[in-house]
Amino acid sequence: MTRSGRHSRLVVFNEEMRTKEILEQRLLNDLKYAIENKEFLVYFQPKYNVQVDPPVIGSAEALVRWKHHELGMIPPGDFISLFEKSSQIGILDRYVWAETARYIAQWKEKYGKVIPISVNLSRIDIFDPDLEKTIEGIVEETGIGRENLHLEVTESAYTEGEEQILEVIRCFRSKGYHIEMDDFGTGYSSLNMLSRMSIDVLKLDRSFIKDIKGEDDDSKDVQMVELILDIARSLKLVVVAEGVETKEQMEFLKKRGCDLIQGFYFSKPLPADEFEEKAIKD
Ligand code: C2E
Ligand code: MG
Ligand code: MG
Ligand code: MG
Repeated sequence: MTRSGRHSRLVVFNEEMRTKEILEQRLLNDLKYAIENKEFLVYFQPKYNVQVDPPVIGSAEALVRWKHHELGMIPPGDFISLFEKSSQIGILDRYVWAETARYIAQWKEKYGKVIPISVNLSRIDIFDPDLEKTIEGIVEETGIGRENLHLEVTESAYTEGEEQILEVIRCFRSKGYHIEMDDFGTGYSSLNMLSRMSIDVLKLDRSFIKDIKGEDDDSKDVQMVELILDIARSLKLVVVAEGVETKEQMEFLKKRGCDLIQGFYFSKPLPADEFEEKAIKD
């Protein structure tokens, strides 16, 4: 490599970093404007119950997208951790939870039908002293019933401030909320903790699923999934597999007793009107 070649690469790298910094600052500055102007859209991804024939939509997950007035559609991977780092994630999450509850109430009113929907809680939200008040307020205002707004907490959150998280979760559960442990297998919670934890649903992370080829696959992933399904069964937890993209993966999981399947094989996350059409309207 020539000297100048190396030099120009360094310059590009620095410029890229600078551009990223500017973009991040821009997104942070735009958060409040975006909430006020309804730029955040809540999409819904169905979770299919595969233990009945044919499979039916048993629940769904609310996933946020940002339709930015200048930058276009931005996926959550580009802004969630940014808002977490700046401790502003609560502002966005409160909005997403309220929107989700509003949709549930609206569909209940229109069709007399309710499908429980889970929302994501950031590990930052868990330590917010107003969390309970916020969620209870949303549920009361919309009248949707606590059992219809499931709460997803990522597994990695359980490893920081363990006792406090266990307490918050216990409190919600005793009130009738369902707790789903998200991204299971990516954090470091021990089996000991899993047995002490008061949860209803275990969401098997996509990383275990994505390379599974099917029935005859004897990979480590297959063995892990079988093991986790056994543990979940003995703890009487409902299991959701995330990121299921192929028929082979779906059939493998169905045969092993996995309850619900969420993934592109059945459906991508859908805008509210499309979800309404597919899941609520009969
Ligand atoms: P997550 O909670 O684990 O959500 C599942 C992610 O997997 C979603 O990505 C979904 O679109 C994606 N996914 C589902 N099925 C498939 C599949 O078959 N193949 C592949 N490749 N991907 C699939 P998304 O919507 O980009 O969200 C990414 C993450 O951002 C979420 O992961 C969650 O941690 C976070 N997030 C999304 N919405 C919110 C929110 O409102 N609040 C908070 N705090 N976090 C959120
Ligand atoms: Mg989730
Ligand atoms: Mg997940
Ligand atoms: Mg995940």
